[in-house]
Amino acid sequence: NPKTGQIYAMATSDPYDPNEPAAISDEKTAAELAGLDEDSNDYKQKQLDAWSLQWKNKAVSEIYNPGSVFKVITGASALEEKTITLNDIFGCGTQIQVEDTTFHCWSFTDHGSQDFAQAMLNSCNPVFIQIGMKLGSEKFCQYYNAFGFNELTGIDLPAESNSISMPLSNMGPVQLASSSFGQTNKVTPIQMITAYSAAINGGYLVTPQVVNSITDENGNIVKKMDTVVRRQVISEDTSATMREILEGVVEGQPGSNCYIKGYRIGGKSGTSQKMDEDSTGQTYVSSYCAFAPADDPEIVMLVMVDHPTGEKFYGSQVAAPICVNVLSDVLPYVGIFPEYDESELADLQVSVPSVQYYTVEEAKKTLEDLGLEVKVKGEGDTVVKQTPVAAKIEHGGSVVLYTEANAKEETVTVPELKGLTKEQARATLDMYGLNLTAEGSGYEEEGAVAQSDQSVGAGQSVPMGTAVSVTFAVTSVGSQ
Ligand SMILES: [Zn+2]
Repeated sequence: NPKTGQIYAMATSDPYDPNEPAAISDEKTAAELAGLDEDSNDYKQKQLDAWSLQWKNKAVSEIYNPGSVFKVITGASALEEKTITLNDIFGCGTQIQVEDTTFHCWSFTDHGSQDFAQAMLNSCNPVFIQIGMKLGSEKFCQYYNAFGFNELTGIDLPAESNSISMPLSNMGPVQLASSSFGQTNKVTPIQMITAYSAAINGGYLVTPQVVNSITDENGNIVKKMDTVVRRQVISEDTSATMREILEGVVEGQPGSNCYIKGYRIGGKSGTSQKMDEDSTGQTYVSSYCAFAPADDPEIVMLVMVDHPTGEKFYGSQVAAPICVNVLSDVLPYVGIFPEYDESELADLQVSVPSVQYYTVEEAKKTLEDLGLEVKVKGEGDTVVKQTPVAAKIEHGGSVVLYTEANAKEETVTVPELKGLTKEQARATLDMYGLNLTAEGSGYEEEGAVAQSDQSVGAGQSVPMGTAVSVTFAVTSVGSQ
């Protein structure tokens, strides 16, 4: 909770089994240990290392380069100091020279002229370097400290790590430049989300806490933990501006961000290179920090993916979808429900209920009320079987109902969908008598096409009405 600092959930994977904490969860290490003499020093050291690795709470004990998520802090500081305004225009040029160092934008195509909001949406590195320069190293460090990056957050958990931060005395223009987009300083995830919360909660740096209250065996509250506000870092006004800007990041690029239908969400992605582990710059830490509702945040969530190994590695691609999945479940759970606008409503997918044992008439009414088409096979009065069931399909999709006990399902051959837009895929499947389940937050976005992962491969024979699930994504562009 960005206002109170109460932590609702915290997880590190791969997890160990808490019932057997000493069992080595990493298979490779476990196999290595099995080959060693248990009394040898080598064994003991390896076991100790493995334990500290698997027991480590990365959220509080690991430090990382936050990358572009940190642009929220640089931006909020510069707005608060009025060294920039929302109307200032900055250039990208895909790179910027700072003394003897050339810094590149993550994008190979020039972002062109941008104001602050557009630069945040584009996550444009050259703009944030310019914003850092305008702020200056002294003010940069002042806000860096004010946002709590040079102290422990004070969370009620053990083994909180200190950051590794560039001191003002060593901060030349090059260090300032790389710090401005989150690449120099290493902080813990808990420091990052605490500072980020201050940027969006009205400006208050709040101590994160796991324990809300302590009760005795009869359920009486023995101790209630109060919210601890350490200080105000930026003004309510600047914080309100940051909420709008970050909501714009999600709204402006629904495909590659934390867009969830019916909700106002703000967020920022980050992708940093682990240069100390891999000097070629090919090893990444990808993250996303989202909050909702954007106008009055009740939840803030940071996902950090350490060393994504797939084809995709940007925070917007690997961490944002995790935020989407979790927040889609959590927001209704905490009583925040979606409010759809008309275009969202038309686009909603429908979950097909089971109408088995309904009369044909009842079944038709139930399904048609949900905006689905119904195809009845057979002459019976009662539904004995249906396809699909419990699948999420597009509005206007069709459900095949069988009314005779030993009716044989009609089958059709699945077409290839890769490369089609959602509309094309839906129309194609419809022609074959099949349904579409669209996956991936990218399917809203212009230019998003079906990826090669359709749930039933082309050429396979399936019952008519089957829902084929397909991920849609924009492959040519992304955002860091
Ligand atoms: Zn750029």
